[in-house]
This record gives sequence, structure tokens and C-alpha cells, in this order.
Amino acid sequence: MSTRVRWEDIALQHSHRYTCGYCGGDITSNSGYSEVAATNSVPIGTIYVCHNCDCPTYIRGDKQWPGAKLGTSIDNLPQDILSLHNEIRDATAAGANTAAVLAARKVLMHIAVELGADEGKNFTVYVDYLVDNHYAPPNSKSWVDKIRQVGNEANHEIVIMGPTEAANIIKFIEMLLLFNYEFPAGDEPEGDVVAAGQ
Ligand SMILES: [Zn+2]
Repeated sequence: MSTRVRWEDIALQHSHRYTCGYCGGDITSNSGYSEVAATNSVPIGTIYVCHNCDCPTYIRGDKQWPGAKLGTSIDNLPQDILSLHNEIRDATAAGANTAAVLAARKVLMHIAVELGADEGKNFTVYVDYLVDNHYAPPNSKSWVDKIRQVGNEANHEIVIMGPTEAANIIKFIEMLLLFNYEFPAGDEPEGDVVAAGQ
């Protein structure tokens, strides 16, 4: 527990390791509040407090709220892309993977147009543009094929996306964002920033 804030009546809990959905830290916490059944005091859940950022995470069984965000922070993004990238990552922490994939597609199309693709094309055209112009790493064909598949459904269809689809497209757009915004600015990427395929 830091000295920045004090949680009232916090108590020792069973140690639990989790990825904090606020600060992204891989932490083990034993501080928090226990939730027990009113009738027989059987343990049900625990609110753990992160010792990195002081924020609370509710854990019940194998579920966690907020969940761990997918992806990583990237420096030097323009404000609109930064906002959308943060929304995408927050959506994954909330389990809103379909919303994350839809927003990630939007970012991917935006990047492709910034890199010279024609406007008004569909998602698959933009993925192909990025691959054909060598913005995707070598030997990434199976990975890119999976990303292409998430853009194949017709506009009227509703296809619910899972964490795997979200993770694939987020990796892809983060690689593009790193090479096109963070690296050109001359900053070193953070230690945990590793674009897939490197
Ligand atoms: Zn934290």
C-alpha cells in the first residue's frame, strides 16, 4: 500500500496474483475486502487493492472486474488516435471485445489512408494494402489472415468477437502505430512494448 491514499478498514486477504486493469501491473495483492455469503459466511469474492496504483479490482472465482487490458500504451500518438486506442484497450478490460474489434478496424483503416491508401474502401482492401506495401512484418501471413477474416462478414451481419480476435487486431494496429508514430519520433519503446513479428 502506498502512502498516497488510505483505504479504510482494509484487511489481509489470501494473496492473489492478477494483472491490474488500471495500471497494467502484474501484481500480487493481499490487501482488500472479502465478500462472504450472508447466511454461512462462505467466501464468495474479494476486492483487492493494487499496491502500484491504489485502485480496486473485484475478483470472484476466475472472473475479474475490471479485467486486464489488452495491448500496450504507445507514445506520440495524435490525440484522436490516442483516444480511440485507449477506448479499445478499455473495452477489452470490460470484456467488450466486439466493440474493441470494431474500433480497431476503424484505426486500421485510418492508418492505411494516412499511409496512402484510397479512401472509401472496405476493411479487407486496407489490410491487403498494408500487407502489399510491406507494413506487415515478414512471415506474418497466418496472423494477417486471421485479421482479414474478422473483416469478411457483410455489413448487416452481427458477429460477436472474442478476446482472440480482439488480441490479433490490436497487435496488428499497435505494430503499425509503433512504426508510424512512436519510432519516427525518436523515442525508445518501453521495455514491455514488443510488436508481434519482431
Ligand atoms: Zn494498479
